[in-house]
Amino acid sequence: MSRIAYVNGRYLPHEHAQVSIEDRGFQFADGVYEVCEVRGGHLVDERRHMARLDRSLSELRIARPMSAAALAVVMRETVRRNRVRDGIVYLQITRGVSRRDFPFPPRGTQPSVVVTARSNDLERLERAAAEGIAVITVPDIRWQRVDIKSVALLPNVLAKQAAREQGAREAWLVDAQGRVTEGGSSNAWIVSRDGMLVTHPLGRDILPGITRSVVIEVAKAQGLAFEERAFTVEEAYAAREAFVTSASQIVMPVISIDGRPVANGAPGLVASALRRDYHQHAEFS
Ligand code: PMP
Repeated sequence: MSRIAYVNGRYLPHEHAQVSIEDRGFQFADGVYEVCEVRGGHLVDERRHMARLDRSLSELRIARPMSAAALAVVMRETVRRNRVRDGIVYLQITRGVSRRDFPFPPRGTQPSVVVTARSNDLERLERAAAEGIAVITVPDIRWQRVDIKSVALLPNVLAKQAAREQGAREAWLVDAQGRVTEGGSSNAWIVSRDGMLVTHPLGRDILPGITRSVVIEVAKAQGLAFEERAFTVEEAYAAREAFVTSASQIVMPVISIDGRPVANGAPGLVASALRRDYHQHAEFS
């Protein structure tokens, strides 16, 4: 079955789904995106993802291409046409098509909208979670507004390629002070030596992960000691546990950092319990 994409008002097989060479997403990475988990045919945490999308658009002064209700219909229709029960739906909005020129295009230029969906092999994901993943650390060379979910992801591409070349699944990005900001496509967490669950505070230097925000709720419900503060690579090496969160992986245990095993090198109890309870706290729609 050919995959179907929504592109600017039409549902098309991927081989015919195209955007203009003058799209500002292509020319300048002038656009934003969202990735929402699909589980049992339902969108997970759609409300929060749409709120973040709104914020990304308004921070970059990109016009809303359609109403929230219309976008909700398009996402569901894309999921339906691709027969996705468990997977992800991906949404990209750019500042539209215009003659190449750095400043914003003329008023009235329509933003471009692309929506795709794909299935995930849940069993494979569960196996990965049972085994845990390796991460490496690399310098965080991104711009200073990574709280905006922009499609300008070149530093993330390079970081994740470095991870792959070293047999790891994720790269943790490290700021000039030696602190881990987040992963190339996930938020980073540890359980510290003294048993505290720790993740970087919100601000302009991390993406406000939707999974991160739900995991904080799960942690509170579980009565875990939790602290939002930056942690260093050294602290992570010595941690009891480490894990990453993202819509596509939920809670994924980290079993090694830069080739050093985290604790005994097996997924930790805290990460596993947060993963187990996650979908009781997520919103399905
Ligand atoms: N940080 C970055 C840089 C990401 O790309 C992602 C995944 N989109 C996340 C964090 C996790 O965000 P979420 O939980 O909303 O998927």
